[in-house]
Amino acid sequence: MHNYSPNYSGQYVGEQGFLSSLEVMDLLYRIVSSKSVFGEEYECGMLLAEIARSEGLVVEIQPIADRRDNILITLGADSYRSSRHGLLFHGHYDTVPALDMPDAFDVGIRDGFLRGRGAVDQKGGLTAALAALIAMKRSGRKLKRSICLAAVVDEESEHRGSYTLAREGIRADYAIVTEPTNLSKVEFGCRGSAPLQIMVEGRTAHAGSAAEGINAIEKALPVLERLFDLEFLPLDLGELGEVRGSLCVSIMEAGTGYNNVPHQAVIWMDRRTVPGEDTAFALAEVQSVLDQVKKEDPGFSARVRVARPDWSWPPIIERGLNPTLTPADTELFSVLEKAAAKCGMGKPSKAFANCYYDMDFLVNDLGIPTLVYGPGDGRLNHSAREAVAVDDVCRAAELFCHVSGALCL
Ligand SMILES: [Zn+2]
Repeated sequence: MHNYSPNYSGQYVGEQGFLSSLEVMDLLYRIVSSKSVFGEEYECGMLLAEIARSEGLVVEIQPIADRRDNILITLGADSYRSSRHGLLFHGHYDTVPALDMPDAFDVGIRDGFLRGRGAVDQKGGLTAALAALIAMKRSGRKLKRSICLAAVVDEESEHRGSYTLAREGIRADYAIVTEPTNLSKVEFGCRGSAPLQIMVEGRTAHAGSAAEGINAIEKALPVLERLFDLEFLPLDLGELGEVRGSLCVSIMEAGTGYNNVPHQAVIWMDRRTVPGEDTAFALAEVQSVLDQVKKEDPGFSARVRVARPDWSWPPIIERGLNPTLTPADTELFSVLEKAAAKCGMGKPSKAFANCYYDMDFLVNDLGIPTLVYGPGDGRLNHSAREAVAVDDVCRAAELFCHVSGALCL
């Protein structure tokens, strides 16, 4: 299984460091091997807690639901609540299911890559942050500011972990969300995601006398046309580039039988929002589409609401997932840049993410300037080829130590 020859050595991690590359590999192997598909995270959470405790780090369990917990790991304070941290690491330890990945939970290491569900999204980054805390602890250096790692659940579904973390409160000068950015770019923000559902009303009749009914599929056509015609203007984010909103009609359901006029057509869509927009804005936009259709066809009847097939938890439906932006001149970026140089890595680029991250909760609810940076190629997220280079996890751990040192020593 262990086909890995470490090719990395730094001041904190690696051959000369406080934590060897082989130990990092072992941590990664254990954490990825501990299956934690969202909803079934318990064992993996307990493993993280046990590893951290055995290294003398302060471990606190934050219950989210039955057998679902955030694990808060602190160095330099006796509780995650008792101080304002110099740096907060954030990582989710839930994963998506196997999907089309064969042997997704039969973890193996080949040619320096560890393969398995969650390796990239995002146990690689989580392991790097945990390894950094362990290395800092073993170094014995006295911290002026505390460091905390929040390992959360449910990022892949209802975001209950980060929701609870934000509601219970945690204070920090800066945060790093350790999702994969291939260690080559730093993401300053992300788009939000507004899940919307339109219900178009019709009336059932026998297909042979269709004129007696109202065909909901036909009624849905002008709605779909208008949705596909919506245009989203680019938003200029300066050095982070241009970003624009988008709308994807992702599921459609209609009809009850071959010989029935459908009485209802349901359209589900994922509207991605940019800074300045939110779920209420997206909802109003679709409502105005429905209003236009109604103007042309007074018999048209439809309503739109916030809904997602896999969401049933009222707080997240209420809150939504918002776009996020950390100012491009944040001090944390120059600290990261210097740390990358110390690790012999190239200058990371600045970017804005099209996907959604839990950084939303850290920035928008807790007011913590947050950047996204971690090992692994995000294009492999949820894919059958999910694998991360062990050396990159070591490199990330080393870099996180340098960032921690710059902010907290
Ligand atoms: Zn993720």
